[in-house]
Amino acid sequence: MGHAQKAYQRIVLKLSGEILSGKQGYGIDGDALEQLVQEISLMHQSGVQIAIVLGGGNIIRGEEFSTSGADRVTADYMGMLITVVNALALQDALERHQISTRVMSAISIEEVCETYIRRRSVRHLEKGRVIIFAAGTGNPFFTTDSAASLRAVEIGADILLKATKVDGVYDTDPVKNSNAVRYQTLTYDEALTKNLAVMDATAIVLCKENNIPIRVFNMKEQGACKKIVEGAEIGTLIRSTED
Ligand code: UDP
Repeated sequence: MGHAQKAYQRIVLKLSGEILSGKQGYGIDGDALEQLVQEISLMHQSGVQIAIVLGGGNIIRGEEFSTSGADRVTADYMGMLITVVNALALQDALERHQISTRVMSAISIEEVCETYIRRRSVRHLEKGRVIIFAAGTGNPFFTTDSAASLRAVEIGADILLKATKVDGVYDTDPVKNSNAVRYQTLTYDEALTKNLAVMDATAIVLCKENNIPIRVFNMKEQGACKKIVEGAEIGTLIRSTED
């Protein structure tokens, strides 16, 4: 397989559960899965090491679910387990495209997938396997955005790619305001203080403290993640001012 030039050795891609739900807006949609696999497959061909962190918002977000009276911790465990279901769906779809994949869960479900062990995950990456990190951080009151930052730090990723529905970070909501302006770059502190709803604060702080850049981009833009790993400056880059 021809390896095009790549700007990064190892990346973490954060995908919200919503990406899997397609037009129906809930659950897992076959066409949405297929589109996603096309994008990941393209990026994989550039030779970059890929770890994916998947969300669960296509079925359950703990905080939302608990507003109906459910215990928050239980609701969060439900959310984490949903990310395992999502991960299995993505693994299956990737492997149908001959992309070797490992699901590693922060909660042990031994019959279903591997349990997360950092050193083993790095080994998988070195062998060219795509990793899907499931069950978030394994702890309630966190999000999969924070899990993505945590794993990026742990495995020494060069960058965290945060896939969204819009093509970057805007000063106001571009869906509601046609005058909204997209930032090309932001510092971590700006992302934290301007209340831009990029990622939750825990996730941003973790990247800030460990100097991991975050690129926010639109997953619906065809070939975007491949272009990014080859060095294209698509979307919005969040990083410290110093570099
Ligand atoms: N979750 C959790 N701890 C984690 C990650 C996730 O408790 O470390 C739960 C939480 O309830 C969350 C749900 O799993 O709402 C699904 O994850 P998230 O909301 O981050 O999914 P996304 O919005 O990315 O689809």
